[in-house]
Amino acid sequence: RSQLVQIRTGSAALDRLLGGGIETGAITEVYGEFRTGKTQVCHNLAVMCQLPIDMGGAEGKCMWIDTEGTFRPERLLAIAQRFNLSGEHVLENVAVARAFNSEHMQALITRAGAMMSESRYAVLIVDCATSHFRTEYAGRGELAARQCALAKFLRTLAKLADEFGIAVVITNQVVASVDGGAGMFQADPKKPIGGNIMAHMTTTRLYLKKGKGETRICKVHHSPNLPESEATFAITNQGIDD
Ligand code: ADP
Ligand code: MG
Repeated sequence: RSQLVQIRTGSAALDRLLGGGIETGAITEVYGEFRTGKTQVCHNLAVMCQLPIDMGGAEGKCMWIDTEGTFRPERLLAIAQRFNLSGEHVLENVAVARAFNSEHMQALITRAGAMMSESRYAVLIVDCATSHFRTEYAGRGELAARQCALAKFLRTLAKLADEFGIAVVITNQVVASVDGGAGMFQADPKKPIGGNIMAHMTTTRLYLKKGKGETRICKVHHSPNLPESEATFAITNQGIDD
């Protein structure tokens, strides 16, 4: 297994919060409401992972599983320009697959190992990891089946992270949480999808929320090795920045 490399995000403040960047060999979950910058963070990582290690990259390719049709190659071109990389080359190193349902997502990551044995991948992005599971298993009685399928999916991701030393980055939505029994809203009214399964199987959980203007706030919600603190970053035309 390769050395533990951290991939920079594009924002120095965010990298400091993360102790250097996004960890390889682990699963990082990025969750938050719509338009908080989850996909933009992924766009940056798809480019940054290709940089040399001494420039904050991981010298590898990116695999991107897109469930909502929000992957934008033109965003990658703008970010590539900022880091003086050839746009054409950067796009060649990103393998994008559109996944139309959760079974398709599982099939894609099950096959991913073969591609990862053939060439060096540094990042696997699943944007969004939970939307299909959520809509397909919508009924009250289907929660156990959903959690079971989600656990299988996350186990496969964990195995890829471990076997190939890649950074697995998954995005997740939030839902309003109503306290089951009493029907009262909890102190934190928004929570990520996936319950205990998601909480236990992700290494680091990052919560994004809107700040002033184009700024966003990232809070480390759960990590084995980082303090629970926050950082502010910006979303610019050339990606994630300070
Ligand atoms: P999420 O995935 O969390 O729903 P996104 O990552 O798509 O959110 O982020 C959307 C935000 O990114 C928008 O609020 C928009 O302001 C910002 N954004 C997207 N493209 C650009 C761009 N080219 N220049 C500046 N900001 C952008
Ligand atoms: Mg998105």
